[in-house]
Amino acid sequence: MRAEIITVGTEILLGDILNTNTHYLANELASIGVDVYYQMTVGDNEKRLLECLQESLNRSDIVICTGGLGPTEDDITKEVCAKFFGYDLKFDEKCWNDILKLFYRKDKVPTENNKKQAYFPKEGIILPNDYGTAPGCIMEKDNKMIVVLPGPPREMKPMYDNYVRPYLLKKTDYIIESRVLRIIGVGESSIEEEIIDLIQKQSNPTIATYAKDYECTIRLTAKAKSKEEAEKLIEPVEAEIKCRFKENLYAIGETTIEDEVSKILVNNDLTISVAESCTGGMVSSSLINYPGISSVFMEGCVTYANEAKIKTLGVSENTLNTVGAVSEECAKEMAEGVARRHNTNIGLSTTGIAGPGGGSEEKPVGLVYFGIYINGKTIVKKYIFSGNRYTIRYRACKSIINDLRLELLKNNIK
Ligand code: ATP
Repeated sequence: MRAEIITVGTEILLGDILNTNTHYLANELASIGVDVYYQMTVGDNEKRLLECLQESLNRSDIVICTGGLGPTEDDITKEVCAKFFGYDLKFDEKCWNDILKLFYRKDKVPTENNKKQAYFPKEGIILPNDYGTAPGCIMEKDNKMIVVLPGPPREMKPMYDNYVRPYLLKKTDYIIESRVLRIIGVGESSIEEEIIDLIQKQSNPTIATYAKDYECTIRLTAKAKSKEEAEKLIEPVEAEIKCRFKENLYAIGETTIEDEVSKILVNNDLTISVAESCTGGMVSSSLINYPGISSVFMEGCVTYANEAKIKTLGVSENTLNTVGAVSEECAKEMAEGVARRHNTNIGLSTTGIAGPGGGSEEKPVGLVYFGIYINGKTIVKKYIFSGNRYTIRYRACKSIINDLRLELLKNNIK
């Protein structure tokens, strides 16, 4: 099956909003084996939208439109798509009742023009909007399909996931099986380089790499007649990738590095406390996001000022006066100091220069030291992260959590 994506909205053409809907849908369609060879954006203009539909459906089976489903006169997507197939729009009582319920739930009163959102072609399938007032729609004619989805991503994504994806899957006589391999500590370009031979000869499964939030994922997607057959296709490729990335591949499936590390701490009953300077609580917060961490997480201290490092963690004044707060020595004393406070198995510390000011030739912006104390032994790591203040702090947070994982692995703790 071949699909095209048409995003409708003058705001997108003007660059006022980033077209994340196309990004999302392209990714999703690829993951179920639907080929996307063209993508378009068009303003809220009937003639031009009709031209786009014509062009797309001349060469593809499916068009997915997003945007322009609102209640106002310039929201024309559904009307134009119905007109393209020659379908009339009829008022749908049930759909209107659903819209009314949503208004009542939010303690709001619908306006007369909201009624426009309850008009659909009787030949179409109405897609409920669980997060907004504009329902979507699937219309079909002569083996061609137009799917109309709302513009706001928080409405569009669940509508696609819950109604469109299953509908498209039913149209195919194969199943799609995906597996996501999670990698940290390797840049996206290095990931591609490492597996370029596999990418170049990929067919089934397909291999897609994505970089997001300092981590990378590799998604393997196989198309087959059964789940078992698809899994058999994925397994050798997965094994090869595991072999190439070794401990940088930290998990498979929907998870995060923080959750994986927290899981290891809980499963091994390893208590932890954290002292943070430049990350300002991010490390504690991301570990605490894991349900069940309360059995091992003792304390998170944001010891930003020198006085706090001395008073709360027992960092020596001499260290601060000689080598300074952003130093190997300070990171070590912080990690040991915080572990000592509650006698925890693990003490983590971060100290660095997040910028934009405060850097020097010797200690540039982005310089961060981590202290990792584990059962009587402390190691210190030094990094120079790039990016703005937030990115440096965020990267430091992800890295120290990953470094803790690697240290635990060296001690055979998984
Ligand atoms: P509404 O019912 O809110 O009017 P709609 O279906 O008519 O929704 P639009 O009016 O086209 O959608 O867009 C509403 C908002 O949705 C935009 O202001 C923008 O924030 C977001 N949006 C629309 N299209 C996209 C897109 N392609 N990518 C990301 N965001 C989008």
